[in-house]
Amino acid sequence: MPNATLPPLNAVPSPPPASSFAPDLPALSPRDRLDRPLRDLRLSVIDACNFRCPYCMPADRVPDDHGLDSASRLSFDQIERVVRGFARVGVRKLRLTGGEPLLRKRLPELIARLAAIDGIEDLALTTNGSLLAAQARALREAGLHRLTVSVDALTPSVFSALSGGRGRIEDVLRGLDAATEAGFAGIKLNCVIQRGVNEDECLPLAEFARAGGHTLRFIEYMDVGTCNGWRAERVVPSAELRDRIHARWPLQPLDPNYRGEVARRYRFEDGGGEIGFVGSISTPFCGDCHRARVSADGRLYTCLFAAEGADLRPWLAQGDEAFAQSLAEAWGARADRYSELRAAAREPSPGARKRVEMFLVGG
Ligand code: SAM
Ligand code: SF4
Ligand code: SF4
Repeated sequence: MPNATLPPLNAVPSPPPASSFAPDLPALSPRDRLDRPLRDLRLSVIDACNFRCPYCMPADRVPDDHGLDSASRLSFDQIERVVRGFARVGVRKLRLTGGEPLLRKRLPELIARLAAIDGIEDLALTTNGSLLAAQARALREAGLHRLTVSVDALTPSVFSALSGGRGRIEDVLRGLDAATEAGFAGIKLNCVIQRGVNEDECLPLAEFARAGGHTLRFIEYMDVGTCNGWRAERVVPSAELRDRIHARWPLQPLDPNYRGEVARRYRFEDGGGEIGFVGSISTPFCGDCHRARVSADGRLYTCLFAAEGADLRPWLAQGDEAFAQSLAEAWGARADRYSELRAAAREPSPGARKRVEMFLVGG
């Protein structure tokens, strides 16, 4: 047993100063109404998915033929213009997501175009990993910098249930091997633990991540969207997971890499790498939230829990200069802080309110 008790998750060691938000902000650098800059963009390339994870896209609520027709999705040309516009207003990190992004046809071609955009310093992708074995090399060669693979269980039957009966852990493990062979280093593993569902998976997953040189991130089960039947009792708080891991492999807190980093990071004292905890429910981080999201049909969401998104197509039609201006104005009008309000009200969730679905904005 480790002898030291870890400090609370919200006791951040040495937070970097506000100026570390953006030392090199471009001329058009909006701050929202809570003085937060725009630095990250999550862009969904597709709203369809080959899984039906019950916490995201439950099969009984989201039918198989759900999905936009291809004409409603932004084209590669439009996506490239959207990302150029966001880069002009300060975005430096871009993450492609979905639905399942590897279902988007000719994705490596898109990645090559986005990797070449001035200002985009970090290009990452989040995937369920089921199709990764066949695509890892092409993604790497196209210029993708980083990969995150979602893995909620290693036990085959639990994994299968958590994918809505559609996924096999063996495929994901083959995908991870292929990605490592293709040259991706420091692959992140996203894991959502739910009480009474996959709690027993947390230590085996940590062991697996340590052995493979991957960085595990536990994400609290969130009340995102309206179709997943979220219940507060199902949330396993980050502090509890951290303490379980700490009891097995002692941890030491790490300083944040930058202001607004959503995961609380720890290093394994024995040199087994690092691990992180994203406590959106128990320790909200809205104060430093500098992330925008764009859905596959080109709508801008300034919060993961927003009810509506602004249609970017009319803004794009006005030309690149006007597009960047419109983005800056939209960001300037932003005052979102849903998770903080939820925590302050000490309510599970204001269930009556409309909220965008996770599979439309990609996490
Ligand atoms: N399909 C890809 C995948 O699963 O990695 C990308 C999209 S998925 C919406 C992105 C992330 O959102 C995944 O890591 C998934 O575990 C997470 N997620 C989905 N629903 C969630 C929920 N209700 N609470 C917390 N995380 C959730
Ligand atoms: Fe699909 Fe990812 Fe949602 Fe699971 S979490 S249903 S893999 S989009
Ligand atoms: Fe950002 Fe909205 Fe999440 Fe708060 S609730 S951290 S504002 S996305």
